[in-house]
Parts: sequence; C-alpha cells; structure tokens
Amino acid sequence: MSETSTQLKTGQGGLIVAPLDDLLAWARLSSLWPMSFGLACCAIEMMSAYASHYDLDRLGIIPKSSPRQSDVMIVAGTVTFKMADRVRRLYEQMPEPRYVISMGSCANCGGPYWEHGYHVLKGVDLVIPVDVYVQGCPPRPEALIGGFLKLQEKIRSSTHQELSNQLRKWL
Ligand code: SF4
Repeated sequence: MSETSTQLKTGQGGLIVAPLDDLLAWARLSSLWPMSFGLACCAIEMMSAYASHYDLDRLGIIPKSSPRQSDVMIVAGTVTFKMADRVRRLYEQMPEPRYVISMGSCANCGGPYWEHGYHVLKGVDLVIPVDVYVQGCPPRPEALIGGFLKLQEKIRSSTHQELSNQLRKWL
C-alpha cells in the first residue's frame, strides 16, 4: 500500500486544496437551518420529514426557531393575503445568504384556491423570491427531501460572482 493511500485511510497528514468558493458552498449546503414555521396542512408533512422516520438531521438540516439564525424558509401551506405580509417580514429578518423552498400547490400557485379563493395569494413568489418549488397537495416528506437536494445542488453550483455579492452584503 502506498504512503498516500495509508494517509487517506488513517486521516493523518492529509492536505486538501480546493477553491474557497467550493469550500464555502460545501459548508453552506451541509448545514442548512430552516426556520420552523408552518401555515397549513403541508406543514404536517414538513414536521414528518423532521421526525425520526425521515430524519432530516442526517443531511445537516436542523430546524431553527428564529428567522435571524435561519438560512432557509420553507413556505409550507396556504399563504393568505393576511399572512403574506408576515411571511415577507420574516424573510427580511433572515440573514444573507437565504433560500426559500415553496412547498405544495398552495404556496406554489394558490392550490385549490387558485380560482375562487379571494383571500389567497396565487403563489408566494409574488412577495418573496423562491429557489425551489416542491409539487403536490400535500407533497410527501420524500418530496420535501428532494427539494432540499435540489437546493443543495443550486448552492453547490453558485458562481463566484453570486458568492462575492453575498459577502459584500455582509461587510
Ligand atoms: S397544498 Fe394541499 S395540503 Fe398543502 S396547504 Fe394547500 S391544500 Fe393543504
């Protein structure tokens, strides 16, 4: 066995060289902290995804109860006009970089209320930017996990320019 492969197996004496962008993206996508709030029935499926059977913790996805320490907002449920303003306010309280997953038909486009629901917003992307849409009414926990995997892919492929813009906002 070569010396290099021995070092890899024992984890001793290794040196990793990678672009800073890749390391930042890797750190971000490996520790996503979604804000814990829900709006309607889709939130039950979201809670199920956090529970032991699906166990989102294993992907580094851990719910956080404050928008100021969260980097992902899952819009899980019907967004009424009354709630839309609150949703936007919570989004604005989240630090950069922040991401949004729209979970379920109601958040995507108004769902069953799209035609006659005078009180329902026809898509949460009318008030905040959405990164990933998860289909279904309600989407199963597996679908939400798929949404997170898509979001991780998006973060992994963030360009240097996007990361620089985000860093500039912090400073
Ligand atoms: S998409 Fe369906 S399950 Fe989800 S909040 Fe709307 S009505 Fe409820």
